[in-house]
Amino acid sequence: MNFEPNEKGYWGEFGGRFVPETLVSALEELTQAYFSFRDDAGFRGEYEALLREFSGRPTPLFYARRLSEELGGAKIYLKREDLNHTGAHKINNCIGQILLAQRMGKRRIIAETGAGQHGVATATVCALFGMECVVYMGSEDMRRQELNVFRMRLLGAEVRAVNTGSRTLKDAINEALRDWVTNVRTTHYLLGSVLGPHPYPLMVRDFQSVIGREAKRQILEKEARLPDYLIACVGGGSNAMGLFYEFLKDEKVKMIGVEAGGKGNQLGEHASRFMNGGRIGILQGTKSYVLQDERGQIATTHSVSAGLDYASIGPEHAFLHDVKRVEYVSVTDSEALHAFSFLSKVEGIIPALESAHAVAYAMKIAPKLTRDQIIVVNLSGRGDKDIATYREFSGI
Ligand SMILES: *Cc1c(COP(=O)(O)O)cnc(C)c1O
Repeated sequence: MNFEPNEKGYWGEFGGRFVPETLVSALEELTQAYFSFRDDAGFRGEYEALLREFSGRPTPLFYARRLSEELGGAKIYLKREDLNHTGAHKINNCIGQILLAQRMGKRRIIAETGAGQHGVATATVCALFGMECVVYMGSEDMRRQELNVFRMRLLGAEVRAVNTGSRTLKDAINEALRDWVTNVRTTHYLLGSVLGPHPYPLMVRDFQSVIGREAKRQILEKEARLPDYLIACVGGGSNAMGLFYEFLKDEKVKMIGVEAGGKGNQLGEHASRFMNGGRIGILQGTKSYVLQDERGQIATTHSVSAGLDYASIGPEHAFLHDVKRVEYVSVTDSEALHAFSFLSKVEGIIPALESAHAVAYAMKIAPKLTRDQIIVVNLSGRGDKDIATYREFSGI
């Protein structure tokens, strides 16, 4: 099976480029620059050196012995993306895109952020390269993520409050796109997940695919065979694609994407795009599954983890879902909160609440598997940012 998109950025019917006329030439310029640099030895060398020396890669593949023994089934390995600089996988993509922006002669970077994680990673690479940085953030998210707002400002970024709509991530993306239309000559839009118009879903996936390349090499070194399951949480879908991509053609490796099941099955209570209310539609420049009501209005979503709380999913995931290469499941807020504390206690690793969704699903299936089976869970980020949320929900 062919897993690559066509030259217009479509995986089957998903993806593409649904943007105002004024952005078409900017996206064309970006696509050309990306394809001319992606196999360039100088570009790759600089990207790999920064991953190594600035972000601390390769991240370990850790055998979670106590977790595996407690569950009494499969061996569980954790891909430790939480050990990256800034505490999550997002920096992999930011390093790639800032290098590209620099080569394209752009002096100004804009980005959108929900929980602030992508904003912090973007502000970090802008500081590293001495570039001007503007981050759009919904004012509701700014209130909830005060510390990350402060962190971005400390790193020299300007954080612009967005007061339209629900004052959250999707409104911030609209505002960032508006800025880009106006300032396209000097500005690169550093998009944070495998979303948006072509070439972003493809490019972000490529920059994240280092996760799966390392994981494959590491599991072969440790176990001399490929894993039976890969499990990752799916917000926009970048950490999951980063892990999955390298294994797509290994037919025996099963892959599971875990969406946010929130607090219930009703539209508005979850962020599971393949569940109740998810239908094919267009949101923010790309065609994919979108949570919407009967009239096609974008639904509100809910998840205890801000990084999974989004109405759409990357188009490559929509394709992998429809061709049944990846299975998508959902995990509720309370299951994720339980996994958050369980992993902390049995392994001494506090996961991000997003990553805790993947851990929770591994906890469900591991006991049903045999001791010689192997699960690799992508631990996309660390949980320091989520301690207050956990405290609020668990009442301790
Ligand atoms: C942002 C984030 C996610 C969700 O984004 P994806 O693009 O789906 O990976 C997951 N985990 C962590 C730790 C994050 O910061």
